[in-house]
Amino acid sequence: MEIVESVRAMQAAARKWRAQGRRIGFVPTMGNLHEGHLALVRLAKQRADVVVTSIFVNPTQFGPNEDFAAYPRTFEADRALCEREGVDVVFHPSVAEMYPAGASVAVTENALSRTLCGAARPGHFDGVCTIVAKLFNVVQPHVAVFGEKDAQQLRVIRRMVRDLRFPVEIVAGPTVREADGLALSSRNQYLTPAQRPQAVCLRRALDEAERLFAAGERDPKNLVRAMRAIVTAQPDARIDYMEIVDDETLQPLGGPIGRPALAALAVWVGKPRLIDNTVLVP
Ligand code: AMP
Repeated sequence: MEIVESVRAMQAAARKWRAQGRRIGFVPTMGNLHEGHLALVRLAKQRADVVVTSIFVNPTQFGPNEDFAAYPRTFEADRALCEREGVDVVFHPSVAEMYPAGASVAVTENALSRTLCGAARPGHFDGVCTIVAKLFNVVQPHVAVFGEKDAQQLRVIRRMVRDLRFPVEIVAGPTVREADGLALSSRNQYLTPAQRPQAVCLRRALDEAERLFAAGERDPKNLVRAMRAIVTAQPDARIDYMEIVDDETLQPLGGPIGRPALAALAVWVGKPRLIDNTVLVP
């Protein structure tokens, strides 16, 4: 396995593979890898001949009061995990390599980014789009894998690929969870032992929405009310948002659920802000 730090060397490797007719699979990450990321690597390996994982904590997707500086950076452990999974190249650039001095061009998404996490984190998805566009130009993948855990991110990336005509196939990987249902996240490590069992309330709330939906409940207000009761029963949980939106537009529903809807929530459990979601298909 190779560690590549420069854009020039990464583009040269991509050019070589493409000349050899090899399919390039790509898994972008911010590092601090866990089973969720590794499951995406395995999906990429199934769909490509060579796999690149990027490890880059992208400054432009963090707000001024968010945890960019404190985001866990564990490169040596990440490298060992990638090696074990059979990753071919870890692309690990510096900030200056991805954002050359004076960089003044960025990608903006103007519809899907307005709600859910985008409403709470202005500029976040523009930062995500900008770095993913750059990474696509550097890694030149045929296929890129993103986690369903970040449902809005997945939809924004698909929209960017469609609108900017990127020749990249986007594959979604199912959310990997702890035994009790908590979605794996680099932020789970900040839960205290008392908060950890409370954090399962996100998944429990989604379970309840799924149960009621399966039993015929179609009113998003009733579903959200039931979800809210589960989360607010936890002493350390504070809801950022909890919504059921149209799965395609991510806009709030005007009435009963008649087409696929995304139930999504973001909850602070003590210090970390955790997210989860499920799709309700009538
Ligand atoms: P991150 O490094 O947290 O920005 O995530 C990198 C990629 O891993 C994104 O596509 C995430 O959606 C995905 N991911 C993060 N957590 C999980 C999980 N628990 N299960 C599946 N994919 C995940």
